[in-house]
Amino acid sequence: MEWKIATYASHSALQILKGAKDEGFKTVAFGREKVKPLYTKYFPVADEYLIGECPEEELLKRNAIVIPHGSFVAHLGIEKVESMKVLYYGNKAVLRWESDRKLERKWLEKAKLKIPRVYNDPDNIDKPVIVKFHGAKGGKGYFLAKNPEDFWTKAEKAGIKNKEQLKEVQIQEYIIGVPVYPHYFYSKLNDGLELMSIDRRYETNVDGIGRILARDQLELSLENSYVVVGNIPIVLRESLLMKVIEMGERVVKAAEKLMGGLWGPFCLETILTDELEFVVFEISARIVAGTNPFINGSPYTWLKYKKPMSTGRRIAIEIKQAIEENRLDEILT
Ligand code: ATP
Repeated sequence: MEWKIATYASHSALQILKGAKDEGFKTVAFGREKVKPLYTKYFPVADEYLIGECPEEELLKRNAIVIPHGSFVAHLGIEKVESMKVLYYGNKAVLRWESDRKLERKWLEKAKLKIPRVYNDPDNIDKPVIVKFHGAKGGKGYFLAKNPEDFWTKAEKAGIKNKEQLKEVQIQEYIIGVPVYPHYFYSKLNDGLELMSIDRRYETNVDGIGRILARDQLELSLENSYVVVGNIPIVLRESLLMKVIEMGERVVKAAEKLMGGLWGPFCLETILTDELEFVVFEISARIVAGTNPFINGSPYTWLKYKKPMSTGRRIAIEIKQAIEENRLDEILT
């Protein structure tokens, strides 16, 4: 039986499909008609392009294995992804853990990672906080506050007038440091963790505010926003790598106990402080767009592989191995 690799045409799809083709798979992209030329003409990584949000029947007919990514899950919603009959690479049970902030914290705590403090009562704010709206895309509407008074002034502007409305937000300790996002791949078939690459996001307007004099910033009364527009590669000090790897190992171990495992690509979103401590504020349990600068491999994959190795290609290799060893059922849900 011939298997095809399919994904929704957005986010990291170019990389996923290129990696699949490099490993000899036929590829299928599906999604909006408008972006079809991207996948078939300008970057011809899709052997076939299906129009539609998730053309399940067509995918089933083609024996397609769907590779999930952030836009795919955000676009379809968790319920739809959970009920899909098309073969899905990864553990669907992870989706709930990742999307519910309380479960996500439980997972990170179980992995013994340092996470930002959360304030349930804004009147207890005693250090700078970042206020996050549930389901906000691209950090829209997030604001920083330095004390309870500052919180309530800004919260009111955002439509939160009393403590009952607080369930719409999470108030997180603001960690001073730099963002560092390591990307991992855990091979379930070989029981091995790999560090694939590391990035930081390029976000507007927060990454542009430093280009304006502090005096002018005050006069313009600017607010931060965190709309991602791209990703920038990072190579870490070598002395930090062991810490990064240990964090990944612990997340995988905790997932085995909590939800039957996490396999394939995942990413920890961290802030690295000047004490050289990683504080993890989020986990993405699938391929992240931060792997896109590394279609030809990263310094870390180059240390391990003798050929260019993207995360997309690594996924295809895992699926190929599973097909050869007749173990597909171990990695698909
Ligand atoms: P995602 O798209 O990953 O689901 P998002 O874009 O909605 O998330 P976050 O990634 O949670 O929002 O946060 C946006 C930005 O705010 C991040 O790039 C990060 O640099 C910064 N940030 C988030 N939490 C903290 C924190 N606790 N301390 C310092 N900075 C933070």
